[in-house]
Amino acid sequence: SDNRIAVLVPGKIHPRVLERLGKQFDIVSVERDGGPKVDAETAARIRGVAVSGGFGASWIDAFPNIEVIANFGVGYDGIDVKHAASKGIVVTNTPDVLNDEVADTAIALLLNTLRQFPKAESWLREGRWVKEGAFPLSPFSMKGRRIGINGLGRIGLEIARRLEPFKVKIGYHTRSPRDSLPYDYYPTLKEMAQSVDTLISIVPKTPETHKVINADILSALGPQGVFINVGRGWSVDDDALIAALGNGTLGAAGLDVFYDEPNVPAGYLSLPNVSLLPHVASASVPTRDAMADLVVDNIIEWFVKGRPVTPVPETPVKLRG
Ligand code: NDP
Repeated sequence: SDNRIAVLVPGKIHPRVLERLGKQFDIVSVERDGGPKVDAETAARIRGVAVSGGFGASWIDAFPNIEVIANFGVGYDGIDVKHAASKGIVVTNTPDVLNDEVADTAIALLLNTLRQFPKAESWLREGRWVKEGAFPLSPFSMKGRRIGINGLGRIGLEIARRLEPFKVKIGYHTRSPRDSLPYDYYPTLKEMAQSVDTLISIVPKTPETHKVINADILSALGPQGVFINVGRGWSVDDDALIAALGNGTLGAAGLDVFYDEPNVPAGYLSLPNVSLLPHVASASVPTRDAMADLVVDNIIEWFVKGRPVTPVPETPVKLRG
């Protein structure tokens, strides 16, 4: 009905978002391909956006009365926040509710990469245990590793805490050190790479994190070195990583995220020493439900109470109205 607030949903989103939003808002669903295609009257009625994926300046400009953009996911690099902020639009994300899931996945991916469990399972399923005998010994182990975490934010800290019982050495690199933590702080990524044999990256996609995992960093990790990425593929120089894995400069890698998803460079697929996941770090039913709820709660709280639950730092936290 016309007296309900209209919320735009471009492209696909978790069904729970639509189900809950639909109870009190008019949902306007549109295709993403080819840019915003909504008649002027409908466009003018849109006051909120729920989105999983991108929402750039051209989308923001196509809807003159947007007040809030709620992103499904903690990483909101797909949204032009600068442009939103310049127009007084609040952007929200879904922090914290996925910390445990993503940290669990990082540990699982690290173990899979070190111990080759996915390959060992294939060995069994393909009948090779019976025909050829025991699965070959994994070249690497968790034991005695020196682990450096690139980014010790909400998720990075949960990864560090999970690593403690493995009796490994733990360090981290961020731009500013965190207070009172029992981990070694490295002011540069290079210094950390030189001091550890295992690097886990969990930094956001920003201009400063573009391809920071480069040939220099990978060779500092060395032939026994392992690189794990659960942050963004944007942070990795794929050509350098594929070369390092292929020529033994680096021991192994485990990747959940890629530069141009869902496209994965063919170079990775043909390497034996890389463990690959299709961006599933937060992808469980309970965690995605919690993320969906936070998207909806941000929109409801904005329109009902005038204050979103989890606004991103770049956009104003002013009260509505
Ligand atoms: P936070 O904002 O809590 O933490 C980000 C961390 O990165 C901080 O420690 C920050 O420290 C550090 N950081 C930021 N910029 C730099 C830089 N240029 N150099 C070094 N360190 C930097 O974010 P979350 O932990 O909640 O999430 C991190 C990212 O993980 C998300 O933005 C998202 O891209 C990704 N992610 C991936 C998922 C997946 O499915 N694989 C799921 C969830 C998140 P400081 O500011 O001091 O530098």
